[in-house]
Amino acid sequence: MSEKQRIVVASGNKHKIKEIAQMLPEFEVVGYKDLGYDFEIEENGQTFYENALSKAKFVANALNLPALSDDSGICATALNGEPGIYSARYAGDGDDEHNNQLLLKNLADKEDRSAKYVCCLVYYSPDGKIVTATGETYGKILFEPEGNNGFGYDPIFFSDDLNKCMGIATDEEKNSVSHRFRALVQLREKLK
Ligand code: IMP
Repeated sequence: MSEKQRIVVASGNKHKIKEIAQMLPEFEVVGYKDLGYDFEIEENGQTFYENALSKAKFVANALNLPALSDDSGICATALNGEPGIYSARYAGDGDDEHNNQLLLKNLADKEDRSAKYVCCLVYYSPDGKIVTATGETYGKILFEPEGNNGFGYDPIFFSDDLNKCMGIATDEEKNSVSHRFRALVQLREKLK
């Protein structure tokens, strides 16, 4: 049997790495922390793509290995797409529960609770090859958290596809409709 090609995920987020590994079984998916590295990668971009590209480039060049990065977030329609690229640090301290509470507060007087998750993936190899794909998944922000499966905003995101909150969905259910899955399906095709 041939050895699987290794891809380093340019993220320190173990939840993202686990989801990507579950969805790309033909690759050996590892995080840079699994390889003994730790990086503080600045995200100065104005778009999911710019941030994903800078993370993938940084890690691929640092390790001299192909890297896959994921820049993702949640966009609420009534807030003009906020928190968007600022999702991870929306409340300032990087704490998921604080982020969720702030989003609930900012939507408290809004009628439109619709939202989407967006995931931009960038594959970058040290020889300069760039492959990119974007996926989205749609739903609504609940009025209070439900369950604690997944991560980030999942406990307050009601998925239109699953007809249930991501916070109570199994890994398999989430992975069958998620923004990350949808981006990965496209990326996998492009990488073939
Ligand atoms: P990034 O690491 O800068 O791309 O920030 C991603 C942030 O978006 C995460 O920290 C979460 O707050 C949010 N996010 C992205 N994908 C998901 C998801 O699948 N579920 C819940 N929250 C997510």
